[in-house]
Amino acid sequence: MIRKRFFILMVILICTIGLISCNRNEKTEINPIDMEVNIGQLPYDDLEKEWSVMNMDKYILRTAQQIWSTWSSVDKIWPGVDFSKYNVLYVSTDGENAWLINPKNEITKFSGKDLPDKFKATGEEMSFTSSEETLNGKPTIKVEVNPKMFEEPYSVSEFKSLPTGTNLFPFTVHEEFHHYQNTWKINDINQEELLQEGIENFEARQERLEILNCLNKAVLDPDKETQYLEAAKWWFNKYKMDNEKEYNMIKSIDILEGTARYFDMAVNVRSIKGMDISEDEVFKVYQNMVREDYTFSSDRFFGLPDEESYDIGGLCGIILEKQNNKEWKKESENGTPPLEILLKNYKQTPQEPSPEVKKIIEDIKLKREQLNNEEE
Ligand SMILES: [Zn+2]
Repeated sequence: MIRKRFFILMVILICTIGLISCNRNEKTEINPIDMEVNIGQLPYDDLEKEWSVMNMDKYILRTAQQIWSTWSSVDKIWPGVDFSKYNVLYVSTDGENAWLINPKNEITKFSGKDLPDKFKATGEEMSFTSSEETLNGKPTIKVEVNPKMFEEPYSVSEFKSLPTGTNLFPFTVHEEFHHYQNTWKINDINQEELLQEGIENFEARQERLEILNCLNKAVLDPDKETQYLEAAKWWFNKYKMDNEKEYNMIKSIDILEGTARYFDMAVNVRSIKGMDISEDEVFKVYQNMVREDYTFSSDRFFGLPDEESYDIGGLCGIILEKQNNKEWKKESENGTPPLEILLKNYKQTPQEPSPEVKKIIEDIKLKREQLNNEEE
């Protein structure tokens, strides 16, 4: 009896495996729809100016061109990262259209209804699935786009500093980079506990924003880099002393989000300016991005501890790149946040609170009050 049961179980198991592998080999039929674009040409010159006449075909073609110009060489930006085998699928949130981009300079538009269930639209804008999923046997990244986005005002997520770029490209790059962080030596993160610890701790918020302010100035005014980094060191030491618990919790996010921000910035610039852009040139573009897009201003902060991690890491990364530091990427993978790596050899210089940070903290408190009043 036991044997018979075992036999039946085996038969069921083998059939199931058969079905699964059958499903895997099932081809998704792709019936191309014409795109009103010329894939060899820039579909626009200035996204902001042309926003009201933009359409998804042009926007996604431009994203595809950014993919084609960087996809096979991102390991030059972060050793070990290899996107060269990945297709990218953009799907409109209404499920109507899909655009499949492969690394061989090909883009195909087709009906989103032809997609297998795992790739069908969920309706959630910018929802992301990594290259672990395959479509027709190829590892395929999927991102959902809102087909009505151009009916809304020009989005602040787009890049004024890179008028021929898209936000969709660095978003895709950033999210896929996270996929590579699974093997890094990082402590587990309890995001909820961190939020509780940090959201009302305005002393910690002020100290981290002071660090950010110093890094921002070090990038925009590199003649005084040492001075600003010594100031950052003082704020960093103070922050660690005053907020030991938060500091230990935030380290992991500073590494994960900070390096991902650096990586998406570095790939974004090169997708427009070319992989062989010189060190001087690339730094100038980074400066423009910081000046125009990653601005140190109230509208970009709500006083959450993890929101600071992105800019801190991004700015540290571009300074470390300028300093030609060859070790920092490995050190980050081994669990040291970019800020600690950058400031390691600087002394500290005592500081006074800055008017810039004071203003941002006041604005954050105001924003929260308004939100509370709206809720009541
Ligand atoms: Zn991220």
